[in-house]
Amino acid sequence: MYIIFLGAPGAGKGTQAARVAQELNLLHIATGDLFRQALEKGTELAKQVKAYMEQGKLVPDEITIRVVLERIAAPGSPSGVIFDGFPRNRKQAEALDRTLAEQGKVIDKVVYIRVSEKELLKRLSGRWICRQCQASYHPVDSPPKVRGKCDRCGGELYQRSDDKLETVKKRLQVYFSETAPLIDYYARASKLLEVDGEGSVDEVTARMIAALHGEFAGSRER
Ligand code: AMP
Repeated sequence: MYIIFLGAPGAGKGTQAARVAQELNLLHIATGDLFRQALEKGTELAKQVKAYMEQGKLVPDEITIRVVLERIAAPGSPSGVIFDGFPRNRKQAEALDRTLAEQGKVIDKVVYIRVSEKELLKRLSGRWICRQCQASYHPVDSPPKVRGKCDRCGGELYQRSDDKLETVKKRLQVYFSETAPLIDYYARASKLLEVDGEGSVDEVTARMIAALHGEFAGSRER
């Protein structure tokens, strides 16, 4: 099963992809997390991606596609993959389609998480993330039980440097010009599954699991 989670920064892709991947036993590949891990370790990749990330711009396609393809090729993938934050433009989408086709595979579904722009700005500008498990919190909507600590794993919470208002605005602008056209690309391929991303984290997860189960149960019956 190969699933893409599509949506604006702040739509909840990371949080929801982690939960759904666990529920369906899928490998969760998040390009943003892979880049942030590289930055923490100070690897060669970090030097190539740092400036783009700090400015809220997309990392060049050659680098991003290489990182994702290496990750898919790594042994030990469970029954499939959830791609979170990839693809982010047409070139990446076509590269992914081509590579999967070479292996006799296809993208089964693209879950588009819909959230209003007002809500996105609110969520991103107050967001705290767990350093260990990437769970995300908000002081008003979803505060942690203990300040500064993750409810799930006890990890330290921090604010992403690209969640500053100016960078958030740039990331949203990049999303609307480069990534949002993919909604149409996958709708034309009859792969799009639209899910309302507003409401509590649990509500959204339940909607996603129900939508995906409905789809895959439907395709087994057909
Ligand atoms: P995210 O955690 O998905 O919000 O990604 C954080 C940052 O990593 C983005 O603002 C980009 O600079 C970079 N990034 C993540 N995924 C991609 C991608 N598929 N293509 C290009 N840049 C990416």
